[in-house]
Amino acid sequence: MKIIFLGAPGAGKGTQAEKIAEICSIPTISTGAIIREAIKTGTEMGTAAKAYTEKGALVPDEVVIGIIKERLANDDCKNGFILDGFPRTVPQAEALDELGVKIDYVVDIDVDDADIVERMGGRRVCEACGMSYHIKYIPTKDNKTCDKCGAKLIIRKDDQPETVLERLKIYHEQTEPLKAFYAAKGILKSVDGRGDIAQITESILKSIKA
Ligand code: AMP
Repeated sequence: MKIIFLGAPGAGKGTQAEKIAEICSIPTISTGAIIREAIKTGTEMGTAAKAYTEKGALVPDEVVIGIIKERLANDDCKNGFILDGFPRTVPQAEALDELGVKIDYVVDIDVDDADIVERMGGRRVCEACGMSYHIKYIPTKDNKTCDKCGAKLIIRKDDQPETVLERLKIYHEQTEPLKAFYAAKGILKSVDGRGDIAQITESILKSIKA
């Protein structure tokens, strides 16, 4: 099963990808998480990506295509995977086609902009393991530390209100055209991303018939 999760930043792609990945026993590949880790450890790619990510811009296509190419070559991708946050532009989707990757489903998690802004304001991530929470919708025991590893929760730099609006603008301009790209291939599934997390997981499973 090879699945792409589409949707605005904060639509719940990461949260749902983790759940579906566990159910289907396939890995989740998040280009955002790979980039954040590279920034944290100070690799050459991380240093190059930092300025783009912090201001809410997209990292250049050739960089993220390189990341995906390397990651998909890993053994754990043999039986399938979920792509969370890739592709985000039409050239990235075309690059995936050129790599010969045959995607089964593209799940678009639909949430309107006003809800996105509210969600991003409450998002917290673990500074050590990257696990994502929300102070209201996915709280931890104390909303200060990670339930999984106990490290401190922080607000992502790119979740600041001005940056969120910039990311939404980029999403509409550059990522949303991918809906038509994949609808034309007959593999686009749209799911309502509002409401209960478990209910959304159910809708996704139904749409991919897992
Ligand atoms: P995410 O965690 O998916 O919201 O990604 C965080 C940030 O990483 C984005 O705002 C971009 O700066 C960068 N990024 C992640 N995936 C991509 C991608 N496919 N193309 C370009 N930039 C990306």
